Amino acid sequence: MSNYHQETILDIHHWTDSLFSFRTTRDPGFRFQSGQFTMMGIEAGGKPLLRAYSIASSPYEDSLEFFSIKVPNGPLTSKLQHLREGDAILVGKKPVGTLLYDNLMPGKRLYLLSTGTGLAPFLSIIRDMEVYERYEKIILVHGVRQVAELAYADFIGKELPEDEFIGEAVRSQLLYYPTVTREPYRNRGRLTDLIRSGQLFADLSLPPFDLAEDRMMLCGSPEMLSESKALLLDRGFTEGSQSTSGHFVIEKAFVEK
Ligand SMILES: Cc1cc2nc3c(=O)[nH]c(=O)nc-3n(C[C@H](O)[C@H](O)[C@H](O)COP(=O)(O)OP(=O)(O)OC[C@H]3O[C@@H](n4cnc5c(N)ncnc54)[C@H](O)[C@@H]3O)c2cc1C
Repeated sequence: MSNYHQETILDIHHWTDSLFSFRTTRDPGFRFQSGQFTMMGIEAGGKPLLRAYSIASSPYEDSLEFFSIKVPNGPLTSKLQHLREGDAILVGKKPVGTLLYDNLMPGKRLYLLSTGTGLAPFLSIIRDMEVYERYEKIILVHGVRQVAELAYADFIGKELPEDEFIGEAVRSQLLYYPTVTREPYRNRGRLTDLIRSGQLFADLSLPPFDLAEDRMMLCGSPEMLSESKALLLDRGFTEGSQSTSGHFVIEKAFVEK
């Protein structure tokens, strides 16, 4: 039996020269939790060519969505970016990952801290009603270099608050904080700097990180993750996993080779 479902591309959206998103059909038997990733890819030279991908759609949708980088000469993404509607795609049957509420101790506010394509798992989480039932506030931070890389900004800021099912919860509980490092923008700077300086909390009118009330999920570049993790450990926060729940959980947005 194959480890993959063969799905079909439904539509593709190119955000920039280096970022794109696409939706695929979803096998009715494919179950996942928001925040998880799976293997995804194509047949190349008669063999499956797959990479880990976070699922960006919510578990309640009939289709699957992915948010992808285009790595110049990247074995998978140099091909993937040329896919068209109707093309076949392979999706691994076993979703996994640590960005799950069950790996966190109960809390009041949930920070979703991302850079680049690290936004992907959080696009699933912010569409999941359960997150709004578990936390009073959900704070989605997305750090990028250029304004054009703020993919999904309109979806998060305009469409989701009007959603017929979760719009009301989104309007009252979701705070979106996009930040840009290399161009003028209303929020500027690296995530870790914004946390250290207190700017993030001042801009959002929230108290600084509090052990009793704040929980975090992190997904981004290896550099952002190691710096953020050190910052959180330094403040007494503990990392959660499948075996022990903690104050924060981490997933790599990609691996540096
Ligand atoms: C748990 C996990 C979840 C992932 N989820 C996603 C996702 O949702 N979307 C996504 O685009 N990628 C994701 N990735 C990365 C993905 O698995 C591939 O690395 C990526 O698709 C590039 O594949 P490639 O074969 O073209 O190049 P690779 O040979 O896989 O990568 C080449 C190099 O490109 C750089 N790179 C790879 N991916 C990224 C990225 N996303 N952002 C910035 N630089 C990158 C790294 O320096 C890497 O060494 C995830 C990786 C992991 C481990």
